[in-house]
Amino acid sequence: NLGNETIKAELGRASWKLFHTILARYPEKPTPEERQTLSDYIHLFSRVYPCGECAGHFQKLLKKFPPQTSSQAAAAQWGCFVHNQVNERLGKDLFNCDEVAELYKCGCDEPEAEEDL
Ligand code: FAD
Repeated sequence: NLGNETIKAELGRASWKLFHTILARYPEKPTPEERQTLSDYIHLFSRVYPCGECAGHFQKLLKKFPPQTSSQAAAAQWGCFVHNQVNERLGKDLFNCDEVAELYKCGCDEPEAEEDL
């Protein structure tokens, strides 16, 4: 069903956008509590993701490749890696993970935002 595929893809794009933007804003030097919070968030996300097939696959991915929470760069590169695992399974092109830092901005209190004014 083409309609369902379109809706599933739209949900996926929105979800990945939020996912990578959260990782882009994760602290450089997270506290143990911040690390636990990110790990919990990602595991809970994989439990509530509203596409049963997708959620099941993603839970297996998390078991194989647990979230990397030691730093912003580690988390963002891990996020790119797991998204690429999904891309690969769906027969999509792999994304160049050198580009994640540039691509995911939140429009919040980033230092660059002041220069844009
Ligand atoms: P998307 O994969 O949605 O990517 C959106 C944009 O993010 C791309 O245009 C690119 O700019 C950027 N991007 C691409 N790769 C990366 C990367 N590695 N790191 C950072 N940025 C990147 N769909 C299914 O049909 N079956 C599934 O089992 C399935 N499982 C999913 C599991 C999860 C957890 C999520 C969030 C989505 C899942 N989806 C699944 C949806 C699927 O991953 C895509 O979101 C959807 O097919 C739309 O794909 P797209 O080509 O528009 O780009």
